[in-house]
Formats: sequence, structure tokens, C-alpha cells
Amino acid sequence: MKNFIFFGPPGAGKGTQAKLLSKSLNIPHLSTGDILRSKILQNDEKARDLNKILSKGQLVPDEILNEIVLDKLENEKKNGFILDGYPRTLDQSKFLNNFLDEKKIFLTLIIEFYVDYQTLLKRILNRSKEENRTDDNLETIKTRFTEYDNSTKKVTDYYKSIFPNIFHQISANQEIDKIQSKITKMIKNTWIYIDFSYI
Ligand code: AMP
Repeated sequence: MKNFIFFGPPGAGKGTQAKLLSKSLNIPHLSTGDILRSKILQNDEKARDLNKILSKGQLVPDEILNEIVLDKLENEKKNGFILDGYPRTLDQSKFLNNFLDEKKIFLTLIIEFYVDYQTLLKRILNRSKEENRTDDNLETIKTRFTEYDNSTKKVTDYYKSIFPNIFHQISANQEIDKIQSKITKMIKNTWIYIDFSYI
């Protein structure tokens, strides 16, 4: 089983790393931001409501996210997964933990990407030119960072306290391939750890 959670503020590059890992391990990358953006393209009333929330940089209600993730994990749980952007609130993490407990699914590794505010800002503003995201502007970025500090930071602290053996932090200030090889190393070490614990 290869089940990962990636945490980190907007612009930390966790999506880039999740995509690389998804390809190398052949497991699905579940980015809740990507899923919500694809829902917005449907352009019905629900999509317009979601668009308003994302454009302001606010968090989408827990019930909507929990339903999305439940649906994805029900389908993907046999193959493993990389959760990117979920859980972002303590309620979401409770929901996820109950699901994992119920299905006897174990997490392999949790990685928190950390990086200084100025680098994040620069990256997000650059990305806005390439990806044309409505939430990659100065005003919205401030709200997204505040949401991260007020809500998601508590979630990472919670996971760090309940899973200290599989919780890792990595500086996202480094080159993409350097971060990638560090993650590969972490995974190898984790699997060695798991193998030994069975002997
Ligand atoms: P991201 O692509 O992960 O930066 O997410 C973009 C936006 O999608 C966020 O600013 C939120 O508005 C929304 N979003 C993504 N994941 C979640 C989540 N787990 N809980 C609430 N809102 C979310």
C-alpha cells in the first residue's frame, strides 16, 4: 500500500511533487484544488457558487470536500493515493481518519513542505501568468495564506502528533529534482522501517 498526504501552503510546490510521485509509483494524485477547478468548468449553479469561494481564496465547506474525497478514495483505495490539498481542516481530518480506520487503510508517509513567504508570493505570481488561475492574485493570496495559518497548520500539527514516525518536513526552497530525490529517499527509508517491523 502506498498512501501519502502532502501538506504545505499555496505555492509550496506540493502539486508538482505529487504529480512526479504519482507517475513514478503509478498511483493516483488526488488534488482537491484540481477536482474543484474541474467542477467549476461545468458552469451550473453549484459551479458558480464554488467559483465565488475559490476566487476569494476561502475554504469550500467541509461537507462538499468530504463527499468528493470519499467518492475518490472509494474508487482508488486499492491502488494507493497521494492526497494533495486535503485534509485542510480538523473536521476534514476526522472524517478522513474515520474512513481510513473503517477500511483498514494505513498511511505510508505524510510530508509537510515548508517555504518562506516571499518565495511563495513570487512563485504564485509567476504561476498566475502560466495557469491563469483566478485565485493567484495578491488579494486572494493573502486570504489563502491566512486560511492556511488559521486552519491547515492545526491539521499538520495534529498529524505530526499522532503519526510522528511517518511525518516528515521538507524545505520547498530547493530545486524540484532535489526535493524529488529527498522524497524518494524518505519513501525507501519508510519501507525499510516497515519491513523491519514485520520481522
Ligand atoms: P489548491 O489548488 O490546493 O491551492 O486549492 C485551491 C482552492 O480550492 C483553495 O483555495 C480552496 O478554495 C479550495 N480547496 C481545495 N482543497 C480544499 C479543502 N480541502 N477544503 C476546503 N477548500 C479547499
